[in-house]
Amino acid sequence: MCGIICYVGNQKARAILMEGLKRLEYRGYDSAGLAVQDGDHIDYCRTVGKIVELERAVGEMEINGTCGIAHTRWATHGEPSVENAHPHTDTKKEVFVIHNGIIENFHLLKKKLEKSGVSFRSQTDTEVLAHLIAMNFNGDLNEAVRKTMSQVEGTFGIAVIHRRLPGQVVV
Ligand code: GLU
Repeated sequence: MCGIICYVGNQKARAILMEGLKRLEYRGYDSAGLAVQDGDHIDYCRTVGKIVELERAVGEMEINGTCGIAHTRWATHGEPSVENAHPHTDTKKEVFVIHNGIIENFHLLKKKLEKSGVSFRSQTDTEVLAHLIAMNFNGDLNEAVRKTMSQVEGTFGIAVIHRRLPGQVVV
């Protein structure tokens, strides 16, 4: 069972997200990751294994943003690996999404996206969400997420940020 934590506020997001992930450790997971937005720049990091691994990796990064999303993954589609850990992004790395659950129709959606020229970087079902949200984005992230949700079948809790919309998390 995965865990999701998001933060938008005045404090630096990294420490708050890491603390949240630690509190979610009891749920069980195989990998973890976070994305923090700082203006039109997004820092992100993903690791396999315990939260302490992610903590070590993000400890070496300069992360100053005050808005972000973080995830502990329990793999359902694709082995536990850095590439399959969340957040997942679209081709241009504008959309960052974390997801709890399963996209039942992801095979069909993935095939369609690949036909239209999208290259996938992971084996997860989740990655289709990032590409679809990017395609459906027209300046309004809520609307893009709403439209995407009408295209997918399955179970999902998600959190999304967009490089062009600092300080906004859609859940
Ligand atoms: N189905 C997604 C994956 O395999 C999400 C799993 C989860 O809920 O952690 O990456």
